[in-house]
Amino acid sequence: NEAVSKNFIEQEIDKDLAEGVYDHVCTRFPPEPNGYLHIGHAKSILLNYGLAQKYGGTFHMRFDDTNPTKEKTEFVESIKEDIQWLGADWGEHLYFASDYFDQMYECAVKLIKKGKAFVCDLTAEQMREYRGTLTEPGKESPYRNRSVEENLELFENMRAGKYQDGEKVLRAKIDMASPNINMRDPILYRVARMTHHNTGDKWCIYPMYDFAHPIEDAIEGITHSICTLEFEDHRPLYDWVVRECEFENPPRQIEFAKLYLTNVVTGKRYIKKLVEDGIVDGWDDPRLVSIAALRRRGFTSESIKMFIELCGVSKSQSSVDYAMLEYCIREDLKMKRPRMMAVLDPIKLVIDNYPEGQVEYLDVANNLENEELGQRKVPFCRELYIEREDFMEEPPKKYFRLFPGNEVRLMHAYFVKCESFVKDENGNITEIHCTYDPETKAGSGFTGRKVKGTIHWVPAPYAQKAEVRLYENLVDEEKGVYNKEDGSLNLNPNSLTVIKDAYVEPSFADAKAYDSFQFVRNGYFCIDAKDSTAEYPVFNRIVSLKSSFKL
Ligand code: ATP
Ligand code: MG
Ligand code: MG
Repeated sequence: NEAVSKNFIEQEIDKDLAEGVYDHVCTRFPPEPNGYLHIGHAKSILLNYGLAQKYGGTFHMRFDDTNPTKEKTEFVESIKEDIQWLGADWGEHLYFASDYFDQMYECAVKLIKKGKAFVCDLTAEQMREYRGTLTEPGKESPYRNRSVEENLELFENMRAGKYQDGEKVLRAKIDMASPNINMRDPILYRVARMTHHNTGDKWCIYPMYDFAHPIEDAIEGITHSICTLEFEDHRPLYDWVVRECEFENPPRQIEFAKLYLTNVVTGKRYIKKLVEDGIVDGWDDPRLVSIAALRRRGFTSESIKMFIELCGVSKSQSSVDYAMLEYCIREDLKMKRPRMMAVLDPIKLVIDNYPEGQVEYLDVANNLENEELGQRKVPFCRELYIEREDFMEEPPKKYFRLFPGNEVRLMHAYFVKCESFVKDENGNITEIHCTYDPETKAGSGFTGRKVKGTIHWVPAPYAQKAEVRLYENLVDEEKGVYNKEDGSLNLNPNSLTVIKDAYVEPSFADAKAYDSFQFVRNGYFCIDAKDSTAEYPVFNRIVSLKSSFKL
């Protein structure tokens, strides 16, 4: 039932279209280019792009670059890359809010002429005092009743650079007694002698967000301006601006709840500190949830889309468990990726009755659940590596892997029986010796006897040495993200484990950055885009195979 499954924004859009308020849909994603995008932004991107698609409308990519203090061109590029990766295609609709500075200025002049805006000389501190509180109305500025002519002249002087930063502002003339503090003569323009990444030194006055944003939307013909809940109280001002600036077909603002993930650091300030303190390896460290970090970790855009769909769109604030994101990537990769053998903690296994120098190439299905992924050849020979934990000198009950006298299957190959093992002078086991039974080759139909354990392996002389990085949550889940006392992060000291001498099958030779695989029993892994080389590949664990997460 489509009507029931529509989210509240779609219901509003349906209503607008039915009532003829709009005859089409145009949405936008308006990031400030002041940092990298994160999983929360992905929600906004996919929501806005998805709505434009669903209604046969248009999606605009707009950089909301009206605040020169924090913006950088570097971020413009990374944001574009991330949005493209997510599959939100803006076509030719790429815009910069700073391209509208002239029109914004004209809007301000129009408001002055209508007696709806005035130049105010109060200091920031005085303005705060005059603003009042939630329970007390504000006081009108003594400059509120300047004439239109005087205001026009002063505003022109502001633009011409005749005043210092903070000396004068342009304010809307609305209602100092409004119960909504946003409506108490809000600032529209301020003096700020700053170089802008796009307009350089052309301007020394800049519009405030609440004035600029509705104008940007209106200029572009946005119909539904979708933003997050904290702007709900700003909506009357949004409507005031588009009405008083007399835009035809004004846009409409609709708010939804931000996406929050539990036990995840999203605050820019905190991430910046983690980067500066060298605790993480940049904004794309695989433990972070920036889009770049998720991509580097090995998440696919499909898995992010699935996750955002599952989260739904709502008006009430809540946190989603990171395990749901992990569920989505497992679901996405399980049929698509080959299942390879990789040994993370190697110990040598020697098959004493396998001829020295002999090698045979086993045919191995890449994914038993998906024939389309085909087969590969895996060399098998006398010396292999297996996981250290797959052998025990003195096994406990129900241990079905290798121990002296026990027989197991080497995955895709033969049964081997443990005959002996070698210890070094410190008592560490360094080598396991086995014999194999040629009759037990996988796929041969051998039914003579059964074994309880199957272990994976790689052929020692052919295996590729690799680095493997295992991740845990960056924050201590027991304690929560932020320290209650000083607001610092409760970091998990074990969030990164680096294994320098793992071994992977030789078939990884052609793997490229971002390629991902299942390593049997160990999880899903992806080639690290920053540090991996052909000689020494680096794999990030995306996610382990097991989960207690239930949908
Ligand atoms: P942050 O402070 O995390 O960078 P922001 O709101 O300052 O967030 P903007 O660049 O202004 O970042 O955001 C662009 C768009 O993304 C806005 O429409 C904003 O509402 C939306 N957005 C930001 N964070 C989230 C989130 N956690 N969930 C959903 N949408 C978000
Ligand atoms: Mg931002
Ligand atoms: Mg913002």
